[in-house]
Amino acid sequence: MNRRQKKTLIRIVSSGILLILANVIPLQEYVKVLLFLISYLIIGHDILRKAVRGILNHRLLDEQFLMTVATLGAIILAVMKRSTDFNEAVFVMLFYQIGEFFQSYAVGKSRRSISDLMDLRPDYANVESEGLLEQVDPDDVPVGTVIVVQSGEKVPIDGVVISGHSTLNTSSLTGESVPRDIGPGEEIISGCINLTGVLQVRTTKVFGESTASKILELMEESSSHKSRSENFISRFAKIYTPVVCLCALMLAILPPVLRLIVLHQPAMWPVWIYRSLTFLVISCPCALVVSIPLTFFAGLGGAGKEGILIKGSNYLETLSKAKTVVMDKTGTLTQGVFEVQDIHHNVMERSRLLEYAALAEIASSHPISKSLRHAHGIDTDRSRVAGIQEYPGGGVVATVDGRPVAVGNTKLMDSLGIPFTPCRSSGTIVHIAVNGEYAGHIVISDTIKDGAKEAIQAIKASGVEHTVMLTGDSEAVAEHVAEALEIDEYQSDMLPADKVHYVETLLCNEGPVVFVGDGINDAPVLSRADIGVAMGALGSDAAIEAADVVLMDDNPMKISKAIRIAKKCISIVYQNIIFALGVKLLCLVLGALGFANMWIAIFADVGVMILAVLNAIRALYVHRL
Ligand code: ADP
Ligand code: MG
Repeated sequence: MNRRQKKTLIRIVSSGILLILANVIPLQEYVKVLLFLISYLIIGHDILRKAVRGILNHRLLDEQFLMTVATLGAIILAVMKRSTDFNEAVFVMLFYQIGEFFQSYAVGKSRRSISDLMDLRPDYANVESEGLLEQVDPDDVPVGTVIVVQSGEKVPIDGVVISGHSTLNTSSLTGESVPRDIGPGEEIISGCINLTGVLQVRTTKVFGESTASKILELMEESSSHKSRSENFISRFAKIYTPVVCLCALMLAILPPVLRLIVLHQPAMWPVWIYRSLTFLVISCPCALVVSIPLTFFAGLGGAGKEGILIKGSNYLETLSKAKTVVMDKTGTLTQGVFEVQDIHHNVMERSRLLEYAALAEIASSHPISKSLRHAHGIDTDRSRVAGIQEYPGGGVVATVDGRPVAVGNTKLMDSLGIPFTPCRSSGTIVHIAVNGEYAGHIVISDTIKDGAKEAIQAIKASGVEHTVMLTGDSEAVAEHVAEALEIDEYQSDMLPADKVHYVETLLCNEGPVVFVGDGINDAPVLSRADIGVAMGALGSDAAIEAADVVLMDDNPMKISKAIRIAKKCISIVYQNIIFALGVKLLCLVLGALGFANMWIAIFADVGVMILAVLNAIRALYVHRL
C-alpha cells in the first residue's frame, strides 16, 4: 500500500466509525448532526473539492459532480424533513471511496509486481577489469567508478559518459518517447535505457541516490494510469450525470409551471422540489460506484495470478474490444534461442569467423547475439573490441583487433556497400564482413515456441479478426513461421520504424490494435499500439517499460487469456449497469405510481449493491477461461 492508499483507508475507517457512533449512541440531536457532517467531510472533502474545480474548469457533470449533488441533495432532503438522519449522504460517499480504494490497490499491486519483475532481473552494473566484464551489485559501486552500459540495458547509476555514442530511451523518466542522442561529456541518469551503442560511464552518485531508485518510488505513488483512455466510471458518468440532472431539473420546474399555466392551480413549488431531490438521491448509482471498480480490482487480481500483469484498469476495456493482434516473431512466437546450423566461410577459418562474430556481438542484447556468443563458447577479451554500434533490425558494427567488423543481415551489408554471397539455406543468415570485405556467413535457426499454434487459434477464437506477424527477419523464415502457425498475414525485412508505420496504418483502419513484442526495437511500437503486450522473462527492460500488459512467463497462450479476462470483466460491468439501473427505474416507476414503500427502496439500494458486488467478485475466477 502506498501513502495515498493508506490515507484513504484511514479516512474510510474513521468516517465509518463516526457513522456507527452517530447511529448507535443515543445523542443529542445537534451532536448527532455534527458527527454526521464530520464523517461526511472526512470521506467526501476531496470529491466536493474536485466537483467545484470541475465546475470552474467547465468540466461540468463528471462523476464527482454526480456524487456531490446526490449527497448534498440527500442532506437538504433530510433537513427539509426535519430529520437528523444523514446516513444516506455519508454512505454514498463511503461506498464510492471504498470502490476507488480497491481499484487503486489492484493497479498498484499489478505495477509493483512489474517492478518486482524488473528487480528480479538482477539490477547490476558492469565493471570492466582485465578485458572481462563483471556484473556487480550496484550498491557496491563507489562514486567515480567507470561502468559499461551495453545496448538494451538500463543505466544503473547516474554518471557522466566518458566514451561511446548512443541513443537513450528516457520515456520511463520523462514520458518523452523520442529517443535522445548522447555522447562523451554528457550527463546520463539512471533508469534510462541504452538503445544502440556501448557507453562507458563514470559514476557521479551512489546507487541509492541515483534517479532510478527514486523513480521506483514515484511509480508506486502514481496510482491509476489515466493518460490514454479515460477510466470507465468517468465515461459512464459523462452520459449518466447530465441525464439524471436534467430529469431532476425538469421534475422540479415543469409540473409546477404546468399547474400554474395550464391548470390554473397553485404551483406547489416545495412539493416538487422535494420530489426532484428525492429523484436525484434515488438515481445515485451506489451499486455501480462500488461494483465497477471492484470488478476491475478482481479482474486485475485474477489476471495477475495467471502471470498477466496489467498496468491499469482502463486497458481492460480496450483489450476486450481487440480486433487485430500484431506479433513480433523472434522471442514472441519463436524461442529466440538460435542454434548455429552451418558456417560458410570465405577467407578465414570457421572458428575465426565465429570468433569475430561473437566479439562484435559482445555487447548486444539481441537473441541472435546471445546465441552467437554461446556458440563461440569462450569468454572473450573485451579489450579487443571498441566502438560498438548496434543497428536495430540490422546488426552490429564494431572494431575488433583494430579491424572494422560488421555482423548482420543483407540490409546491413547493403547499407555498408559490401557485396555478399546470398545463401539458400533455410534459416536466418548472419553475414560477416571484416575490413570492409565479405568474410562469409553463419546460418542459424530458431524454433517455434511450444503451443504457439494453439495460442494463435485461441486468439482467433477470442474474437480477434486479424492476426499479423511482423519481423525484421528474411522473407523465407517469415513465410515458414507464418504458415506453420496459420497467421493471417506477415511482413518481413522490417526495420523498427517500419513496424511503427505498419501499426499506425492498422490503427487508422481497424479496431483496437494489440501489439505483442519483446525486444528493445519493439518499444516504440509497444507504446504506439492501443495495447502493448511485452514478454516479461525474455523481454528487454525497454519493452517492459513501454508495454501496458506484461506476460510473466512469455507464453503466447496468455495473449488470448488476457483478452478473455478483459471481456469477462467488461461483461460483468455491463451486467451490473443494466441490473442496477433496471431496478432503479422500476423503483422510480413504482414510486411514481404510489406502490413503492420503504422496503422496496432499501432493497433497491442495498440489495442491488450486494448482488452487484457478488457479481463483481466473479471476475477473480479466471483460471478456467
Ligand atoms: P524480429 O522482428 O524478428 O524480432 P529484429 O527486428 O530484432 O527481428 O531483427 C531483424 C533482423 O535484423 C534479424 O533477423 C537479423 O537478421 C538482424 N539483426 C538484428 N540485430 C542483430 C544482431 N545483434 N546481430 C545480427 N543480426 C541482427
Ligand atoms: Mg524481437
